[in-house]
This record gives sequence, C-alpha cells and structure tokens, in this order.
Amino acid sequence: MSFTGCQSKSREITIEEKRCPRCGAEVEIFSVDAEAKCENCGFTVYNDMMSCVQWCRHARECVGEELYEKMRRVARRREERKQLTSE
Ligand SMILES: [Zn+2]
Ligand SMILES: [Zn+2]
Repeated sequence: MSFTGCQSKSREITIEEKRCPRCGAEVEIFSVDAEAKCENCGFTVYNDMMSCVQWCRHARECVGEELYEKMRRVARRREERKQLTSE
C-alpha cells in the first residue's frame, strides 16, 4: 500500500498573478508556493496573505489597509493563544 498523503488527492496547481508592491510588475506565483520573487526588482511577494502580513515589509500595500489591520489582529490573537498553551 502506498501512502501519498492527503494533499495529493485532487489538488490543482494554479498560477496566480500578483502585483509587486514595490515596482508594480506582475509576479507569477504557483498556488503551492508560499512566496515568489519579482523578476523585475527581486522583491519577495507572498502567496499566503497571512505570511505577507507577518513577514512582508509592504504588507499594508499588498493586502490593503483595512485587511491589513484585520489580519494583524488575527495574527496577534494566534500568537497569544500559542503562548498560553506553551506555558
Ligand atoms: Zn518588483
Ligand atoms: Zn506582501
């Protein structure tokens, strides 16, 4: 019996086009990739909005002001919960 993992079932890989927050060029990113580099300026564009908010210097511009604040709150709450359970 071969075990292939739960992710391999019918996970379609798609390519998404994101806009680089630094130079405005289009960056192609695979749905399975967490991040991709802008070919124009080398800036790292994040696929996952959560990791963008946490690691990206331009997160505010990437996801927009409103969403940025919302995600920041969610991220902070997650961190707090993590700290609580580890103690
Ligand atoms: Zn760029
Ligand atoms: Zn970003």
